[in-house]
Amino acid sequence: MTSGVTAVESALKGLDGIRGELAEFYRDLHEHPELSGGEFRTADAVARRVRGLGYEVTEGVGGTGVVAVLANGAGPTVLVRADFDALPIQEATGLPYASKTDGVMHACGHDMHATCLIGALTLLANARNSWAGTILAVFQPAEETGRGAQAMVDDGLFERFGTPDIVLAQHTAPFPVGLVGGHGGIAAAATDALRIVLHGRGGHGSRPEVTVDPVVMAASTVMRLQTIVSREIAADDAAVVTVGMMRAGTKDNIIPDDAELRLNIRTFTPETRTKVLAAVDRIVSAEAAAAGAEWKPDTSVIDTFPVLVNDADATRSTLAAFGEIFGADRVFDPGRITGSEDAGIFATSADAPLCYWMFGVLDPALFGGTDPVRILREIQSGGVDLATVPGPHTATYAPVVEPSITVGVTALTTAALTWLAAA
Ligand SMILES: [Zn+2]
Ligand SMILES: [Zn+2]
Repeated sequence: MTSGVTAVESALKGLDGIRGELAEFYRDLHEHPELSGGEFRTADAVARRVRGLGYEVTEGVGGTGVVAVLANGAGPTVLVRADFDALPIQEATGLPYASKTDGVMHACGHDMHATCLIGALTLLANARNSWAGTILAVFQPAEETGRGAQAMVDDGLFERFGTPDIVLAQHTAPFPVGLVGGHGGIAAAATDALRIVLHGRGGHGSRPEVTVDPVVMAASTVMRLQTIVSREIAADDAAVVTVGMMRAGTKDNIIPDDAELRLNIRTFTPETRTKVLAAVDRIVSAEAAAAGAEWKPDTSVIDTFPVLVNDADATRSTLAAFGEIFGADRVFDPGRITGSEDAGIFATSADAPLCYWMFGVLDPALFGGTDPVRILREIQSGGVDLATVPGPHTATYAPVVEPSITVGVTALTTAALTWLAAA
């Protein structure tokens, strides 16, 4: 460990000089979002920037991933990760730097993650006299599809660039800017996204008796799926089963041959995951049989994310370091979230501890206040209606540029210096 607060504070002094250019970089990324796996412009912008800081930069790792290494003497290898893909959403923030690409938006704040990592890499490079070890910076593509982290690992990330002793990652959150939150242990849910095709037998809408109607089969299946969480999962456990898509038919008087359902399932333990997936399979098959279908439904996996597990000790010490820098009342435990995240794949693949935290990026005015600490207390006591605040994956999710960048850069720099050795 370094000399702690002093080393961090001296590194953070450099932030004043780069705030403007980081904001400009962020706005540029925000204006030019790219979908998972197609982050070519983004990767290029990131690589050019980081190369200029003196890091050894490699592009094209696991697709469009970018790896930047700064070896600075004997010491731990600290992996700092940011994802940089966007989502298929039409932006409706009305911001002057809103997306210029139709139907694509940085609605999960990954542009903020990449910008903050660049800021931290700048401060760490400038402060290299005060620490020893290796920084392994990972700019990851395709987080939203759950593929990017695994693709980078499969492309030899650790064999080519070294195995980390700790994995650090952060995510924007729909909290007032100024707050930082992390949860030790199971911190984010596993996801299984499934596509299920129910096969009926189509025909004329006037003669249902000679058909097997997949629309009714689908409707019945959707209703029955709701009983998994309410009837099969214990009250002290948790799971989510969402049918986000249901598609069948072309015209009112035609009974179609097939119906398609798309499910999104969230669980927190392997046992519950197995149980829920088995229940889905059982219900889908049984509803098809009940409808008299001649063919069994087809199920395929769209994507999956493992559970994200924060190392309890690593999270405790990192959050303690945040408390020193931000003030202990600005650091909190948000509990486990039903969101999913593939950053944990870097840690499990490297057999290294993980610390993943969230930082608020929203205007406190959206919560009806100015002081984030006061708002946090109100949120925790149930006095703020969070449903009215635009969160990630919505068309109006709008992180404030500053002080979000300041908080994100400060958190990453602080965390990295907590794990790097003193010079
Ligand atoms: Zn995200
Ligand atoms: Zn997302």
